[in-house]
This record gives sequence, C-alpha cells and structure tokens, in this order.
Amino acid sequence: MKNIISVDVEEWFHPEALQERFPRDTWDSQPQRVRGNMEKLLGLFEEKGIKATFFTLGWVAQKDPQIIKDIVSGGHELASHGSYHRMVTKMTPEEFREDLKTSLDILQDISGEKVLGFRAPTFSVVKETFWSLEIMAELGLRYDSSVYPIWHDRYGVPDAPRKRYVAFEKNGLKLEEFPMSTMQWFGKNMPFGGGGYLRIFPNAITRMGIRKMNRENLPAIMYMHPWEFDAEQPRLNLGRLQSWRHYYNIDKNLEKLAQLLDAFEWGPFRDHLN
Ligand SMILES: [Zn+2]
Repeated sequence: MKNIISVDVEEWFHPEALQERFPRDTWDSQPQRVRGNMEKLLGLFEEKGIKATFFTLGWVAQKDPQIIKDIVSGGHELASHGSYHRMVTKMTPEEFREDLKTSLDILQDISGEKVLGFRAPTFSVVKETFWSLEIMAELGLRYDSSVYPIWHDRYGVPDAPRKRYVAFEKNGLKLEEFPMSTMQWFGKNMPFGGGGYLRIFPNAITRMGIRKMNRENLPAIMYMHPWEFDAEQPRLNLGRLQSWRHYYNIDKNLEKLAQLLDAFEWGPFRDHLN
C-alpha cells in the first residue's frame, strides 16, 4: 500500500495562530526561512527516494521561484495552498476564486506544469464552505485534500467520510476529496500523522494509525510544514496551550519523519488519480 506524503509550503509566520501578529504588509520584512527548511525536507526525500506533493503558497512561489524549480526538478508534485494563506471561511466565493486562480497562475507559470490539487489553509473546507469545491473544479483542479473528519476548535467536518470520495460532479467537471487521515477510537475519529499530531504523538501511535488505515485498504495521508523542522525560527509567546501545540518536538521532527519514511511506502497524490 502506497501512502501519501504532503507538505504545505509556507513561511513560519503564515500559520493561523500567528496571523494577527503578521498582517500581509509585514511579511516582506520578516526573516525568510522557508528555503532553508525546504532544503532539509527535499534532501531527506531524495535520500529516501520518495516523491511527495507540495501544496505551495502563491506568495512563497512569487517570492522565491527557485523553491518551485527545486520541487519540480526533484520529480515531486506541485499543488496549491492558495495565494495568501487566507482561510476559505474568511472569504466570499469571489475572493476565494481570485485567491486560488492567482496561485494557480503563479505556480503553473513558474513550473510549466498543470496543477491538479489544492489544500486549504487551516483545513478550512468545512460545511459552510463546501461551495468552494465547485470553484476548484471550474479552475481545472482534480482533487482537494482539506477536509478533516474530526472535531477541532478551528476546523473539521466530524461526519465527513474517512476515505476518498467524489466531492463535486456536474457538467463533466469532477473533483475528488482526500480527507485527512484518522483512526477510529471508541467510536470517534482521532487525527494522526500530520502537523502537531505528527510532532506530539510518539511514532508508535502514528505507525499504528497508518497500519490500521492500510488494513482498511486506505492510504494514510501525512502532512507537514517546513517551519515544523525549524528549531531556530523566531519564537512567539502564544500562551501555554497554543505554544505547546505550535512548537513541541520541532527539534526531533526530522528524525521522527525519517523513521516513518523508512517504515512505509510513500508517494504523491497524483499516483492515486486515475
Ligand atoms: Zn498552511
């Protein structure tokens, strides 16, 4: 079973927890760290012979096009994470269309490749933003991987399917959804294998989750951010819970990832499209 590995390519100041402190007009004057962190990840994937999907922010691509060239020349799949890391829940349909289209234009111009997939910032494809799926299909995308079938304070569609499904189909357009990985635990969906869950849970839990999904004949989907491998990034005081969730185990994350890459088979989303 080939599992799916993905990276949301954004700067350390882009996560939602930090957005209030970093309005868009401050981004250019911050330390730019994504290139260095991407070199660590791309280096590890090359060493392990693994191809991944990189959901990249249009802003990052425009700022440093070499990152896009490195992704594509490494044989990886390039996909979109939107232009400016705005949650879909905070946009009108017109604003979302504009934000997504701009990112696709930038990514496709630089790479010369057609982009097939999207991941919304902060998994913000939720019930009230399901209208976004039609816009994705209209802009030529084949899949979305933004739905998290869990309860969470910022995101989640607790009753969404746990396996891939057709999220939109009309007039010859079709968009598939690849929901984020969960394992069932006393009747509830428990997230694992990405972001803070990947850093916080011991790898034994993550490995158990992957094996459980594979036994259900489902590929597990792993996701991560370049800043989650950057122990030297500027640290902010986010309050106790938020700081823990945001920074825990960053210094051990590359080693944890390397172990998981060795333990299972991995590939990009495109390998799972027909
Ligand atoms: Zn993001």
